[in-house]
Amino acid sequence: MKLSIIIPVYNEEKNIEELYVELKKVLDNLSINYEIIAVNDGSSDNSLAILEKIAGYDFNFKVIGFRKNFGQTAAISAGIDYANGEVLILMDSDLQNDPTDIPRFLKEIGRGYDVVSGWRKNRKDKFLTRKIPSWLANKLISFITKVNLHDYGCTMKAYKSEAIKDVRLYGEMHRFIPAYTSWHGAKIQEIIVNHRPRKYGKTKYGISRTFRVILDLLTVKFLTDYSTKPMHFFGRIGFWLFSFGFISGALALFLRFFKGITLIQTPLPLLTVLFVVVGVQFILMGLLAEILIRIYYESPQKTTYLIKEKINFDK
Ligand code: UDP
Ligand code: MG
Repeated sequence: MKLSIIIPVYNEEKNIEELYVELKKVLDNLSINYEIIAVNDGSSDNSLAILEKIAGYDFNFKVIGFRKNFGQTAAISAGIDYANGEVLILMDSDLQNDPTDIPRFLKEIGRGYDVVSGWRKNRKDKFLTRKIPSWLANKLISFITKVNLHDYGCTMKAYKSEAIKDVRLYGEMHRFIPAYTSWHGAKIQEIIVNHRPRKYGKTKYGISRTFRVILDLLTVKFLTDYSTKPMHFFGRIGFWLFSFGFISGALALFLRFFKGITLIQTPLPLLTVLFVVVGVQFILMGLLAEILIRIYYESPQKTTYLIKEKINFDK
């Protein structure tokens, strides 16, 4: 198996068949082994029935059905977990990404890149609520992750299987996969892709996504910098607080004994207590975090989704 196309599907009944036809046309021309994995993320419309119908006559078309809506990130994770391809291409199922871009992704992978990221340079979405926040978010993500990409939000991306297979995704973090993989040594390339306006159905996201993305970014940053040594993070803050406590305590005593200013005339004793107490808390939090990461790394892997059915899979 050479290529796996992974598409998350959530209420896209009007788009699936057209997407399938477009994909088929491109993929059959490539003359390589491929599979299309559609993950039905608990759609409440007719999507699942349409996916099942296609899977009924095309064995390269595989379907994973979730028990309920777990979100796009979980759908992508499931696709990655069950993919057999050496190269994985993720894309949306709403026809906004263009299957005719697939050969160009493969070409870049063939040139030795581990990750090829799509850039919707000419994006067909609303200007104020989508393009502006997305521009800001991309700048911020690039700055914090130190992996410069123009379009983190573009789902259309290609990965070598080995670069992505052990990435675990939580929350809405699929957009950070390139940063993750780059931190683990992957070589990244960016190509401009075609982007089309949504014809049928509607977007599942609004402006509030930007804030969730920024919160996720904090988590990603923290986890990558400190996930194996959280004490270095909490402990350092704890020590700083202790030092402040010591200084303000010493200052209070100095004023008391050498300047005749009593302890109740300044806020310093109160500050000392505050700094020391919070400092102790931080050290203890660091210890807890150390215990937690030991449990995390040694616990059996659990998934962020529940599967109800699988069609056309060998196992
Ligand atoms: N999607 C999903 N689960 C969700 C929300 C979205 O699987 O809870 C899928 C959706 O079907 C589409 C892709 O994720 O294929 C991107 O969603 P959408 O087009 O709404 O996002 P946008 O393109 O507007 O950013
Ligand atoms: Mg879309």
